[in-house]
Amino acid sequence: MMKQQPERLLTLLEECKTLAFDLNFTYAKEWKSKSKYRLLVGYLPIYVPREIMHAANALGVGIMGAGDRKQIIKGDAYYQSYICHLPRGVIEMALDNNLDNFDGFLFPSICDCVRNLSGMFKLVKRGKFQRYFDYPQNFEKHIGGTFYRELLETIIKDMFQINDMKITAKHLNDSIALYNINRRLIEKIYDIRKEFPWRLSAVDVYHIIRAGMVINVEKHNEMLEEIVGLLNEDYGEPMDNIRVVISGSFCEQPPIGLIRSIEMAGCYIIDDDFMLGSRWIQGDIDDASQDPLNAIVDAFLTQSAPSSAVYDYGNPKSARLIKKVKDRNADGVIFCAASFCDPALLDQPDLQKACDAAGVAHINFQFHENTGQFKVIKEQTGTFSDSIKLWV
Ligand code: SF4
Repeated sequence: MMKQQPERLLTLLEECKTLAFDLNFTYAKEWKSKSKYRLLVGYLPIYVPREIMHAANALGVGIMGAGDRKQIIKGDAYYQSYICHLPRGVIEMALDNNLDNFDGFLFPSICDCVRNLSGMFKLVKRGKFQRYFDYPQNFEKHIGGTFYRELLETIIKDMFQINDMKITAKHLNDSIALYNINRRLIEKIYDIRKEFPWRLSAVDVYHIIRAGMVINVEKHNEMLEEIVGLLNEDYGEPMDNIRVVISGSFCEQPPIGLIRSIEMAGCYIIDDDFMLGSRWIQGDIDDASQDPLNAIVDAFLTQSAPSSAVYDYGNPKSARLIKKVKDRNADGVIFCAASFCDPALLDQPDLQKACDAAGVAHINFQFHENTGQFKVIKEQTGTFSDSIKLWV
């Protein structure tokens, strides 16, 4: 008889799911309530170095949108109709007091919508600081590196002005070490799924990683350790599915029903960019440096994942996507971007051209975070899966 998923794994997955979709960030607010020196710093997709917040006794909390769990009424008044959905949901959350008790907010420089959101947070007076987190687009250490370091120092100062917490090299190295463990464990899950994708669905992986964006890294590491241990048990059986990489969902998140529909249409999602911020730095950051802020800067300049948010001169995203397909032994790519997402949709033709040149099959569709109907997407993906199984 086929062995089932371990009971303990099911319990942990349920816990991750609850944490991941709590629009009130209950866990984070309780964490903060335990000491008057603790801070909550919310950040929008894609990436911020949470290590600097951890070292400053702050919890970096990923705000990934309201999904389909909130009706947007006020948010529509803040944005024109021809943009993506995420910023409307986030402003609705702010106006509905979901983000009360947050001390500050960071808005990465991914697109004009997020840039404008930082201004709106100032207007509606949420948090004690609101920073536009302007990624350097120059990767020369003395130019982009200097610029980035100044940005990090400004945010450290923002936090210091609230809780008086002075960051030492030891604090920062300890925080870097914890996030190194976190990144390694997340990659371990992807590596196990590369070999045994039937042991954990892509939806479950999604819940596990998203939970880590709203809880402290120590707790997430404990959960990940246990999950990795359980995934190493032998259970389940392979299905006749194709293996795909998802590209383009790095900011506004697809509804869970959409991810599930892709899986039900006969695809193992072997890799994706859903929670790219948690996997942004590839490999470890030096955790024994005399100048750990410099180590964080270096990691951004030399170890960043390919992303539509940063310039990629000399290291094309298209080549890196093809490498990922090959490394993961994938059969094809599903380009799955939020509707009106300029960064994802502008990159897409180039990435598709690279797939064509490398003989990698691909399809594409767009979504809103609150899309409710997946029938067409399931049919399209099912046809893609069948055509690969029959003819490739
Ligand atoms: S989904 Fe795309 S367009 Fe919308 S805020 Fe995110 S990056 Fe910008």
